[in-house]
Amino acid sequence: MRLITCLLLAIISPMMVALANVDLQVLSPSALIEQNLDRGYTVHEDVVKKNQVLSSMLSDCSVDYPRIHKLVESSKDIFNIRTMKAGRPYTVLCDAESGDARLLLYEHNPIDWVVFSVEENDISTKVFQKPVEIVEREAAGIITTSLSATMSELGINYELTDRLSEVYAWSIDFWRIQYGDRFRVIYEEKLVDGKSVGIAGVKAASFRHYDGDFYAFRYATPEDTLGMSYFDEKGGSMQKQFLRAPVKYSRISSRYSRRRFHPVQKRWKAHLGTDYAAPKGTPIYATADGIITEARFKRANGNYVKIRHNGTYSTQYLHMTKIKKGIRSGVKVRQGQVIGFVGSTGLATGPHVCYRFWKNGKQVDALKQKFPATKPIDQQYYPDFMGYKDQLMERLESVPYPGSEFEGDEVDEMEVLERLEEQESDAKLSSSFPANPGNWGLILAAIV
Ligand SMILES: [Zn+2]
Repeated sequence: MRLITCLLLAIISPMMVALANVDLQVLSPSALIEQNLDRGYTVHEDVVKKNQVLSSMLSDCSVDYPRIHKLVESSKDIFNIRTMKAGRPYTVLCDAESGDARLLLYEHNPIDWVVFSVEENDISTKVFQKPVEIVEREAAGIITTSLSATMSELGINYELTDRLSEVYAWSIDFWRIQYGDRFRVIYEEKLVDGKSVGIAGVKAASFRHYDGDFYAFRYATPEDTLGMSYFDEKGGSMQKQFLRAPVKYSRISSRYSRRRFHPVQKRWKAHLGTDYAAPKGTPIYATADGIITEARFKRANGNYVKIRHNGTYSTQYLHMTKIKKGIRSGVKVRQGQVIGFVGSTGLATGPHVCYRFWKNGKQVDALKQKFPATKPIDQQYYPDFMGYKDQLMERLESVPYPGSEFEGDEVDEMEVLERLEEQESDAKLSSSFPANPGNWGLILAAIV
């Protein structure tokens, strides 16, 4: 606990304005604290503890129960205080003379922060957002261990690994990413208070893999409402489409939900799939090309099949009456190929297929996934695209790879290995070994 006492009581300054008069929109918690130092407040900084309640956060200052009660009431439609997270910072400002609590500032995440006012004449809760600045950046890297390790060595926000994996999901098998593969990328980073809080998007990228160069350019045509389609240097689409559903002529009987009443288990639990009700024996299709990773029986899933499409996406199909002959682990399947038949094996009340969709190792709602254009650039936009692409390509090509040992096109493997040994990379390698093989960014790329 840090206690800063400010003794500026005697100074009358124009900054001495009541909270209600302060334009909070332009302030950050630190700016608000700064202002209040001028009012002679004491500042108590801490982080939220597990299961900590509002009253105990205010306990460094004096505040009576009716005021806390009123504060909790005031917060109801504005901010759910039960979502306050352990480990997040908060600051309490108290009157230096009376020790009376005045303000509680809570930083919910890097962007959202909450001001709880417990002043006698102003008991209120307000939520504010720190301004997010988007800056365009360029980066280049050569992969020696894994893409995520390379990103972290370069000090780049880890989210860029996921963004790049999505852009290249269908063109590069990142399970086979290898030592010496290299990338250049122009991307947009989100900054709050000058610190990175995430990646807004990838504008353009090049990836050299097995001596082939893979380019990706984000380009939005007027019809492209998503504004996130990627094309290669010839204007071809970077994406392939998933089938909308794994069965024809079906109806959705239950959607993906974080909370639903389970019809068999009779309790509330998350349903991380989409159920398609269809008659027993209806063929189930692979929704995209991929490799079967599981095809077996489990008590809850019944007969099921799981397909890995690429380093980013996997799908799973449950409750089959039977798995199609020949569908087993390691087998390649094409989009639309029959992998099994609708049934009600496992925990199921009637014949249906529970379709589950994984993105970067997490189960997500298949129906909410937005997939960019899968067609090449339309002729009418082609000249514009080519001009735009040429500019970006030139920029990409001028981004230097880090380290003098990487100058030129050839990687000196011995030099890189020596460097890695110096860094005692062994310890680092074993600790960064993927816990979840679904995230290609964590895969050790170069076991040379
Ligand atoms: Zn289901």
